[in-house]
Formats: sequence, C-alpha cells, structure tokens
Amino acid sequence: MFGRGQKKSDSTKYYDVLGVSKSASEDEIKKAYRKAAMKNHPDKGGDPEKFKELSQAYEVLSDAEKREMYDQYGEDALKEGMGGGGSFNNPFDIFESFFGGGAGFAGGSSRGRRQKHGEDVVHSLKVSLEDVYNGTTKKLSLSRNVLCSKCKGKGSKSGTAGRCFGCQGTGMKITRRQIGMGMIQQMQHVCPECRGTGEVISERDRCPQCKGNKVSQEKKVLEVNVEKGMQQGQKIVFEGQADEAPDTITGDIVFVVQVKEHPRFRREHDDLYIDQNLTLSEALCGFQFAVTHLDGRQLLIKSNPGEVIRPGQHKAINDEGMPQHNRPFIKGRLFIKFNVDFPDSGFLSPDQCQLLEKELPQKTSNHLSDMELDNCEETTLHDVNIKEEMRRKKQQQYQEAYDEDDDEPSMPRVQCAQQ
Ligand SMILES: [Zn+2]
Ligand SMILES: [Zn+2]
Repeated sequence: MFGRGQKKSDSTKYYDVLGVSKSASEDEIKKAYRKAAMKNHPDKGGDPEKFKELSQAYEVLSDAEKREMYDQYGEDALKEGMGGGGSFNNPFDIFESFFGGGAGFAGGSSRGRRQKHGEDVVHSLKVSLEDVYNGTTKKLSLSRNVLCSKCKGKGSKSGTAGRCFGCQGTGMKITRRQIGMGMIQQMQHVCPECRGTGEVISERDRCPQCKGNKVSQEKKVLEVNVEKGMQQGQKIVFEGQADEAPDTITGDIVFVVQVKEHPRFRREHDDLYIDQNLTLSEALCGFQFAVTHLDGRQLLIKSNPGEVIRPGQHKAINDEGMPQHNRPFIKGRLFIKFNVDFPDSGFLSPDQCQLLEKELPQKTSNHLSDMELDNCEETTLHDVNIKEEMRRKKQQQYQEAYDEDDDEPSMPRVQCAQQ
C-alpha cells in the first residue's frame, strides 16, 4: 500500500543501532561499529542478536551505494536489491573483514567462524641418484604437536576458559600514542598475557596432561615413498599431518626431493651423462669398458669396429637414462662424453712416428712442396701458459687505462729499461 517514497520512517534504524547521526561520516561509522562490535561480540558474552544487527547496519552504512538506497527507500528496498530473502552476509565474516581476519576472537567457540589454516611444515628430503633411479621408501621420525587427548584441546578440566583480562578476550591489544599535532598513532599487537588466544585457564582448572597447553608432542614415523624418476625439487605431501592446534585446520608436511650429486652420473631431466677418458690409441683403434649402472648392472660399452673417436665427442645408449616419473618403464638416454688423453710424455720416438705416419692419413692441405719450403723462414715453438698470458695482458690494459685517466701532463711516457 505504501509507495517507496513514503517509507522514510524506518531509515534511521541502522544509524540508531550504531549510535550515529544520519549525517555521520564514513570514519565516524567505522569507529562506532568497531566500538560496538567489540563490546557486543558473542564470544565476549554479548547478545548475538544485537551483534547481528550491528553487523547488518555496518554492512549497509559502510557501502556508499547501499547507504544511499537505504536513506532513500528504507530497509525493504535493500532486501529486494540483494536478490531475495534479505540475505545479509554472515555477521562474523563482516567482523573478521573489518578486523583483518587474524584479529578475530580465538576462543574455544566454533560457531559460524572460519577456522585458521595451520602452517605447512616443509622438510628437504636428501636422496641419492640411485634412490630416484630404483625407487625406495624412507622412514623418517618426526615429532609434532597433537591436540591433547585428555582435554580434547580445550586445555582445561572443565572444558571452558575464562576471558583474558589483558585484552578483554580479543587476543589483540591496541595501544594509542600521541604523535603531536593532534595526531594519534594506533598500533595493534598480539596480547602477551594470553599469547593471542583471548582466554586464560585458572591454575586449578588446567588439564593435568597438557598443563593447559592444549597440545602435546607426539613422535611419528612417516614412510616416504620416493618414486622412480622423481625430479629435483619435487614435493611429496602428507596432507593434514603437520602440527595440530585448537580451531585450526592442520597443515601439511611437505618433503622436497633433493637429489645428491653422484660421483659418476649427471642427470638432466630423463637423461644421464657420464664422462669417459680414452687413451689416444683407444680413441684411434677402439675400446671397450664396463660401467656399473645405478641399479648395479654392468653395462659393456665398446666402439664400433674401425671408428675413430674425437676429443669431446658424445655417444648415447638408448633406454639407459632415468626412468620417467609415473611411467618408469620409459627411460631416457645415457650419454657418454669421451675425453682423449694424449701421451703424457709429450714426445714420440722417431720409430713411433714413422709407424704412425705410415698408418695414419696425411692431411694434404698442410703438405708443403720443396719450393714453398724454400720461401719460408724458420721459427721456434715455445711452451706458453695461455691463461697466465691472458691474465697478464688484462692487468696491463687496466694499468694503461689508469695511467691515461691520471692527467699529469708533465709525466714523460718513457720506459727506462729500454734506454
Ligand atoms: Zn589437555
Ligand atoms: Zn589476552
């Protein structure tokens, strides 16, 4: 029967609930809600209905759009606008979003509030390359907090706790500090008396098993399955096995696979690499050797007949690399890098040379005719340490650059030693 414009009569209710005037600023509304919500929180013995009203009022008046609609048309218009049924948010959610989640009441109440998430516990799991090649199970003994079995995590014999006097049960303390010019700095910190729980348990009521701590330590042996082909950094997760705490969703224990370096094999994804030294004659005339694989098998590795191996050359053996994780029957390749050891002495006897020259092909492009030889000058080759030479050259360049920067025109650039 009433037109919307006529329903102005009830559009002061939310202002009255918060105890502010209709012209209150955003800040005034915020402050009024903070004060009233803390006082009326059901965990503090406040009236749940009153708390709900406060949260509804704040939800509307803190939102410029909703507030305007409310001012114009009243409460019913908002309920229509909210998609039927007048579905306001959970007052506890509004409270938490206002106080930033963590500052909520951490009492024993489970009513309507979201639980905290416990932290994950991360361990690194050192394994050998053999472990991830063959797969293995590691037994690890860990100690963790579990809810006390005697008091079910309440910490008291009676199952209740008193409100902390230091923080009025909020778990947080707010300190205000005048910082001059009428400005006040406000800081929030965890209440030291109750360590943020908002409650205290009297000496007499303390649970005898956990001494009021609500949790006790438990030793636990975890069997960690290291699967074939697991990669460096891969995570093995034990869900909900981390420390238990009251009103908390227990976090996970996470193992991060760390594969130790192997003296012989190097891994790259699903491939394995080894280095193999050959003597010069093995490189030229053929070789055969055995490699002990990561599962203990002996692999016979030999050259193809007549093939010459160059220094730094790679060869690969299919299906002797790492097994793929989850598909361990598929394996990568085993790469072998050949290094060629030249004779240590640095000299060959004329007889050895003659033999080699006879057998090895001569490179025609380097062959000089007698006439070409006549046009050449004789030279002598000296041994050099090329690394040392480079280092010295760099130092010299640096010194010269330094000298040029140093603008002293009177300094003659003459090297005395050459005079
Ligand atoms: Zn206990
Ligand atoms: Zn406290």
